[in-house]
Amino acid sequence: MIDLYSPKSIRAIADRFGFRNRKSLGQNFLTDRNVVLEMIASAGITKDDTVIEIGPGIGALTRELSASAGKVIALEIDRDLFPVLEFTLSGCENVEVVHADVLKTDIGELIRENGGAKVIGNLPYYITTPIIMRLLETRPAPDNITIMMQKEVAERILAEAGSTERGALSVAVQYHCETEEVIEVPRESFSPAPKVDSAVLKLTPRKESPVRTDDKELFFRCVRAGFGQRRKTLYNSLTGTGYSKEKIGAALDSLGIERNRRAETLTMQEFADIANELGR
Ligand code: SAM
Repeated sequence: MIDLYSPKSIRAIADRFGFRNRKSLGQNFLTDRNVVLEMIASAGITKDDTVIEIGPGIGALTRELSASAGKVIALEIDRDLFPVLEFTLSGCENVEVVHADVLKTDIGELIRENGGAKVIGNLPYYITTPIIMRLLETRPAPDNITIMMQKEVAERILAEAGSTERGALSVAVQYHCETEEVIEVPRESFSPAPKVDSAVLKLTPRKESPVRTDDKELFFRCVRAGFGQRRKTLYNSLTGTGYSKEKIGAALDSLGIERNRRAETLTMQEFADIANELGR
């Protein structure tokens, strides 16, 4: 069987099909099969599963998914990869490669049509955050989401209250999902090698909110306002919610949250408490 993991064979396949690697589409292909197997094991993929893969590239992960899953729907934006995929995935009858921009695809619809699905992918790094934000809002939610991203983004997602890495992305992901780091992947494990290291996270959508929020929209308004002006104290940054300083000061005082704290020090429940108090 053709080797999809060595830089030499990746180049040979590209030459054979006249494929030119596009940096602008984040085309860094994995060269470490162990990482692929680890992702599949961590996602807990079985023959009962439909899997939606984001960005199959030349099909390394896709081919292994085909062997483990019941059905694979692979969304790829670059038409030039289709002849390559036809070759590398020949015999993989349970794979459907779809020409699609993941940011314009109704993933909820695909999940509904298939009675549930897991999402997996080595993400194109130029759109990591928008993809994650879309997946968080997808309904029905995927069973789980196992994705490779820049290590620095993974660290921001995992950051707890008190960490300087913490931001609106950390709160959004942790609100919607349980998070788990699967594996760190050095830049040398890709061809061509990107400028940064990577990490795989497994996100499992929660069935219930992890905090008591009366109004989810107001909760996220507080989160965005707090981190939108993260150098400012909460007393100042929370004016971005549209509430008056008087109301914000009173809310913080009644909760015993010091006015000069900054957003990254707040737990998710403290954000929820502030939102609940402001909305009262
Ligand atoms: N899965 C392969 C691997 O691990 O070797 C390739 C991963 S590569 C980092 C990202 C893939 O996403 C590329 O194949 C790229 O063409 C594709 N891609 C980029 N933007 C996309 C988009 N908006 N929608 C779907 N696929 C996209």
